[in-house]
Amino acid sequence: MTEYFHEEAAAAIRALREAASVCRDVQASLAGRSDGAISKQDSSPVTVADFASQALICRRLAESFPHDAIVAEEGTSQLRQPDHDAQRAQVIQRVGDTLGTPAREADVLAWIDRGAGRRLPGADRFWTLDPIDGTKGFIRGDHYAIALALIEKGRVVFGALACPRMALGSGKGVLMLARRDRGVVQMPLWPASASADTAQPVRVSPSADPADAVFCESYEPGHSDQTASARIAARLGLRRSPLRMDGQAKYAAVARGDAMVYMRLPTQADYRENIWDHAAGAIVVAEAGGRVTDVRGEPLDFSCGPRLERNSGIIASNGAVHGPVLEAMGRKIKG
Ligand code: AMP
Ligand code: MG
Repeated sequence: MTEYFHEEAAAAIRALREAASVCRDVQASLAGRSDGAISKQDSSPVTVADFASQALICRRLAESFPHDAIVAEEGTSQLRQPDHDAQRAQVIQRVGDTLGTPAREADVLAWIDRGAGRRLPGADRFWTLDPIDGTKGFIRGDHYAIALALIEKGRVVFGALACPRMALGSGKGVLMLARRDRGVVQMPLWPASASADTAQPVRVSPSADPADAVFCESYEPGHSDQTASARIAARLGLRRSPLRMDGQAKYAAVARGDAMVYMRLPTQADYRENIWDHAAGAIVVAEAGGRVTDVRGEPLDFSCGPRLERNSGIIASNGAVHGPVLEAMGRKIKG
């Protein structure tokens, strides 16, 4: 575990901890208000913290792996416009504060733009990053994740997931690291000085009884069909209410047995998922002994570019209840 992707893990731990500290501070300062957020072309929100997080992580990756491309969620075209001068100044300030030295605007924008490395399908090795996955939850003061994964020849080989609002022992903040065929571990996200030696292996719930299952899903009804998931849960005899969380914290919950299933059921038949919304989470669950497919039971195909073009929706589970969940879905799901 220590040798394989050691350099990647070391860079990811540093990068995600730096990014998470900015996110934590900005989330506290937002206090549930969305007025500082910019509305993107698809009407989804983006905050100062999304940009600062992407700048810090891309900076670290550039330092350690200058030849690797990064496919990340954010770009700078809106941030560069004069009506966003105030947000741009805040991003630069936050990045400089985190690095302990003033940051130059041109550098910060260039770091963010390293994430625009849109890869052609089939590219050999690249990273994919969601600097804040679940921005709506982040603004609301709830769960979110910072998700980074490495893809080689169309397969996710390494994933790092920071879940700042997730409990660990008596504290909050979890960092999970997964390496292909080597398992997954969790450790405290904070303090940043906490050694990776504190990492503990993570395993899915061993239960095979779907009636015992806690299932998780998106908090946002626009991202996953909650009416359909309630119908499936009823067919499986699930009594407990769903655990609704934002971002890939849902994969972390399945990986460590807090939930047995994560259902993401398409609300539009033609929606295709972004790779940065699933790559890190998928390897975390797979390496914890679980199973991840789309709603048709097909494996996720990360070889098609920035979106999962050949998949629709997501089912992640402890493995044992995967078949029964797919069966209970029948053919009633769009996609
Ligand atoms: P979650 O926090 O799990 O609800 O997922 C957040 C992600 O949902 C965002 O990063 C978006 O990329 C993605 N998203 C946006 N619109 C949709 C949609 N219609 N269906 C599924 N996912 C979406
Ligand atoms: Mg996202």
